Amino acid sequence: MVSVLCYGALLYYFFVQTRAFAFTEGEKQIKNVLLTHKAIHSFVEKVQKPEIYRLKQEGHLYSDYFSPKLLSRTYIARGIEEYFSQEREKVGLPPLYFKLAAENPRNEVNAADALERDLLRRMRSGALTKYSELVKIDGHYSLYYAIPVDKMVSSCLQCHGDPQMAPRELLEQYGETRGFHEAEGDIRALISIRLPLDDQIKAAYQIFIRLSIGTGLMLLLLFGVVSLSVIQLKRHQRIIMNQNEKLNQLATVDMLTGIYNRQGFVTIMEQELAFGNRHNLSLSLIMMDLDFFKKINDKYGHGVGDMVLTAIGKLLNEVRRASDIVSRWGGEEFVIACPHTELDGAVKLAEKIQSHLAEQSFPLGIQMTASFGVAQYHPQNTLDQFVDRADMALYRSKENGRNQICRASQDD
Ligand code: GH3
Ligand code: MG
Ligand code: MG
Repeated sequence: MVSVLCYGALLYYFFVQTRAFAFTEGEKQIKNVLLTHKAIHSFVEKVQKPEIYRLKQEGHLYSDYFSPKLLSRTYIARGIEEYFSQEREKVGLPPLYFKLAAENPRNEVNAADALERDLLRRMRSGALTKYSELVKIDGHYSLYYAIPVDKMVSSCLQCHGDPQMAPRELLEQYGETRGFHEAEGDIRALISIRLPLDDQIKAAYQIFIRLSIGTGLMLLLLFGVVSLSVIQLKRHQRIIMNQNEKLNQLATVDMLTGIYNRQGFVTIMEQELAFGNRHNLSLSLIMMDLDFFKKINDKYGHGVGDMVLTAIGKLLNEVRRASDIVSRWGGEEFVIACPHTELDGAVKLAEKIQSHLAEQSFPLGIQMTASFGVAQYHPQNTLDQFVDRADMALYRSKENGRNQICRASQDD
């Protein structure tokens, strides 16, 4: 989820950047157009007009001479932009919208539209110095750019101030009503340019799509590689955990009988003792040693002896309660711990084992008996001492003739 959000944010960033790129490219082109316009302006003002006024003064042109083709920079600029647009169209480029828009134009073609009038008002109030927006008109993108023309200076007023001051030919051509009565310092018009941006936007979108697909594929690949690594890592973890479990089992379980070995028994008993001590619970232990087991080996062989030991392990597992802990202490000795059990209860379990042994017939009809030592835990005992007490009782059972149960006293 987080990665999808991050990718979304990345794509949005690409989108904004590529659009901004198209916009900046458009602005660069408009700046070029404006520089051309300034050059035309300068040429008309500094070369063409002074030359015409000189000709007037020297009498080569009469004083009321006026021709917009030679004297109106608005007219000249518009004409040049028209040729410029035609040339653009010839090479398959859309025409450029270029206008010196005024509220009080001398020529109607220069009349500001609603947006231009609004921009003019904002520029006059000083609220706006430049307008630059990406707009969509009739399904086509354009960069709409507008800046004010220079403020009126006294030389402008000859043609835009009092109509009486203007050349007679100008009045004859345009009349006295339009384009006059401006004041020094006024912003008379704005340069309004709409540069078609469809191609740039299309190129930007193509870049955006390529970047999105490219990074998407890369992220997918990365995701795939990371996922594969994680899967492999988890597989290895599982294998290690299984091996650990097996090792743990090997360390704590007796291979022959499948019950706990001494190590497993000691580990569990340490927890049992700690728990029993904390909660003051009773706990008893049975040590059991098979009688004359050596003879079985001697008579039937070690393999049969092993079978008997396995059967004994199974028997002990069957007779014990769920909470009892059965283990092979070593050789033909077994130990059974009985949590929450007093001495008498453990003796009862020993008797039960004894009677099961008496009833059970082992392979080859072998009969087995065992001797038992039973002890109840008392709080001062370590595990070793507890086991020793049961072992001593077992020793007494052996001494007394085997196949019997002896109890360890609490004072042992
Ligand atoms: P007692 O009544 O005094 O206990 O006599 P016993 O013969 O049982 O005791 P002893 O200690 O003399 O002999 C124990 C025998 O148990 C000797 C050994 O060969 C046998 N034994 C120990 N571990 C295994 C085993 O894993 N498999 C087999 N088959 N025999 C084992
Ligand atoms: Mg023994
Ligand atoms: Mg024995």
